[in-house]
Amino acid sequence: MTEEQKIILRQAWGSFGESYQLNIAIEECAEVIQAINKVKRASDLNEKFNTINHLCEEIADLENMLYQIKANLGLEKIIELKRAQKIERLRFILEDKFNKQTS
Ligand SMILES: [Mg+2]
Repeated sequence: MTEEQKIILRQAWGSFGESYQLNIAIEECAEVIQAINKVKRASDLNEKFNTINHLCEEIADLENMLYQIKANLGLEKIIELKRAQKIERLRFILEDKFNKQTS
C-alpha cells in the first residue's frame, strides 16, 4: 500500500468516524465469509473464476478496513507481535505433526 493510499484510509476514518467505520468493518468481514462460501460452491470453471474475482474484491475491502482499525487505534505493533507469536506456535504444531508422521 502506498503512503498516499494510507493517508486516504486515515482520512476516511477521521471523516466518517470510528463507530461508522467499525460497522463497515463488520460488514466487510461478513462479505468475505460469504465470498469464500461462494468459491467453495462454484460448480464450473467460469463460476470459479467469477467467485474468486469477487473474493479478491472483498478481501481488498476488508484489508482496507483492517488497516484503518490498526492505524487509527494504534494497534500495528501489537498485532505484528501477536502475528509472529501465532506463526511460531504454528511452526511447533507442524513440527510435532511431522515428527508423529515419521516416528
Ligand atoms: Mg465489500
